[in-house]
Amino acid sequence: MKGFQLSSREYQENDTLIEINTASKPLVIGQGHCTIIAGPCAVEDREGYLSIASFLKEAGAHALRGGLFKPRTSPYSFKGLGREGMEIMLEARQLTGLPLVSEIMDVRDLDFLYDHIDILQVGSRNMQNYSLLQELSRLDKPILLKRGLSATIEEWMLAAEYILNGGNKQVILCERGIRTFEPYMRNTVDIAAVALVKQLSHLPVIVDPSHATGRWRMVAPVARAAIAAGADGVMVEVHPDPDNALSDGKQSLTPQNFSLMYRQIMDIAALQNAELK
Ligand code: PEP
Ligand code: MN
Repeated sequence: MKGFQLSSREYQENDTLIEINTASKPLVIGQGHCTIIAGPCAVEDREGYLSIASFLKEAGAHALRGGLFKPRTSPYSFKGLGREGMEIMLEARQLTGLPLVSEIMDVRDLDFLYDHIDILQVGSRNMQNYSLLQELSRLDKPILLKRGLSATIEEWMLAAEYILNGGNKQVILCERGIRTFEPYMRNTVDIAAVALVKQLSHLPVIVDPSHATGRWRMVAPVARAAIAAGADGVMVEVHPDPDNALSDGKQSLTPQNFSLMYRQIMDIAALQNAELK
């Protein structure tokens, strides 16, 4: 038996399927579905968020991301609108019908976020915040667990194990690049980890090519590679005006580039599913 158990293929042979109810048909994640989560790094203002949300809905995205609580390296950077921004996200969900994804940084925000957000994201910096993971393990809500900045695959799987072990079976793993000696890109994306984890585990695995590379020009190529390697989807940052974004503008796609990427990866996903049959 490996260190991780509940997340392993030995424990459960078939892929986990996560279902999220929406105003229209439920969103499903896993089992060969290609799920695209998109939106800006942070919710900045009402007008910008609602306009990108309606665009993304039209363009085919399946869920909307938006950070309210941002873990920033410098305390002087924009740290998100916090609770104040929730009204904007709720309005975007109302407008589009798309489920919401947002990061929980602090266990004190749990009840508040639980009440409104459809998928709670655990950011890289909190992957080993075991008291947070234990709280999340008691919920009946999907958790998007990002790989830690320098986490091994085993550490990442064991973090997932904390959530599963407390009774929450709805874990989505997200590869977002790891820190290596290579400074050219923000992180080094571990595409092989996607293929490996899909073999080791029944949990859905998605890739975040935005944080993985830090460069918008790298987002579509890495997203294509992710889907080709067997990922169950991608999460990408999209901003109406990346040059003026309050966080992560350099890695954010314009709406137009999102549409291009979307078509490319949906084609790859269709090809893979055809091969499976
Ligand atoms: C994010 O998704 O905005 C984020 C902060 O990501 P990560 O935790 O992967 O750095
Ligand atoms: Mn970001």
